Amino acid sequence: MKKNALRANRKRMKEEFEHQSKIGQLGKTGLSRVAFTVPFTKVRKYAQSLMKNAGMKTKIDAFGNLYGRKEGKQKNLPTVMLGSHLDSQNPGGRFDGPAGVLTALEAIRILKENKIDHEHPIEVVAFAGEESSCGMTVFGSSAATGVIGAKEMKNTIHPPTGKSLYEIVNKTGGNTSKIRTSILQKKSIKSFLELHIEQGPILETNKVSIGVVDLVVGYIRGQIIFKGVSAHSGGQPMPYRRDSSMAAAEFMLEMESMVKNAPESQRLTITFGEINARPGWISIVPGETEISFDLRGKNDEILKRILERMKKKLLEIKQKRKVHGIMKDVLKLPVCPTSKKIQSILKRASKTAGFRSLKLSSGGVHDACRMAKLCPIGMIFIPSVKGLSHTPEEFTHFEDMVKGAEVTALALSELSKKSVKI
Ligand SMILES: [Zn+2]
Repeated sequence: MKKNALRANRKRMKEEFEHQSKIGQLGKTGLSRVAFTVPFTKVRKYAQSLMKNAGMKTKIDAFGNLYGRKEGKQKNLPTVMLGSHLDSQNPGGRFDGPAGVLTALEAIRILKENKIDHEHPIEVVAFAGEESSCGMTVFGSSAATGVIGAKEMKNTIHPPTGKSLYEIVNKTGGNTSKIRTSILQKKSIKSFLELHIEQGPILETNKVSIGVVDLVVGYIRGQIIFKGVSAHSGGQPMPYRRDSSMAAAEFMLEMESMVKNAPESQRLTITFGEINARPGWISIVPGETEISFDLRGKNDEILKRILERMKKKLLEIKQKRKVHGIMKDVLKLPVCPTSKKIQSILKRASKTAGFRSLKLSSGGVHDACRMAKLCPIGMIFIPSVKGLSHTPEEFTHFEDMVKGAEVTALALSELSKKSVKI
């Protein structure tokens, strides 16, 4: 065993992981645990009992987020926070989210059992509604950081019940009359750390167990509506057509090749996940086609430039194919860098624990991105087998979760020291 390494209790971790996997279990390996449903409140209760057993003081805030707090040796110091989420996609897997909450809990117990003192208080959080299956992505952390409030909650439908998020949060243990006091304050938090499964293939391909995240990619999303002329599929000869779907297809292929030709280091992706042709009939040339786009990358400037090129290409295709085309509802989320200081703490912690680490970027948005509004953040990735996630096939080796907990414990022991400034 490496000097200074801290070791997890495998048996305890395994039992807890299997227990939570059964709450909202779908088939053999899947999970259906949308936030604010019965399985969700059950798993939150289970996590709360684990926090209490670890000697933590727990609370559920206005939005249904669960916190467990362990005081530090000194009063009035900002909190060192860590955690993730317990809700799932529908269907989803057993690792996305719970891996971060359970390893955080294990890390706290490791410190306690090794009698490692900490001056700062430590809080574990299980954010509610990280997955879009509840109606909004990163809901709990957005609400706790004041990015959204009662208005957005009232305007968002919770798909499993058809109620508003505002109503369902109140029905399942939240309390919207406490919104004001549930918003986290900047000066009250020193740092935020989230462990998450990678949801991509890089760690597995490189045979590395610990990923140190340097940034979370930014995105630009929007809709494009192409308008041509509906016509008879047999009657209208090809040269006379103003086919909206063909214009959309040409646009999508052009954009794909542009993104594919960019250097891999930019980590650019483009996805057209929604394609709707109208009137949508086999024998009618579609008069209107609507597509969505989701463009992601590591550099806000490059993303902006690509958006400009998309607009230019749209204009060219419109002229060439004699169709109309408008881009609308464009939404931008900037790139979210993690703290360089926390990156080096994580790298060192992996080395001390005896595991290789790799620096990589996150293609998915996480609660940590919201917390970045308040404090320096850090993220640890552990491997996803075949890069799969948001599916019952999602799998992470238990051994990698154990390693994640051990690295988290070492990092936490540093972050919670008063002498370690971030
Ligand atoms: Zn997640």
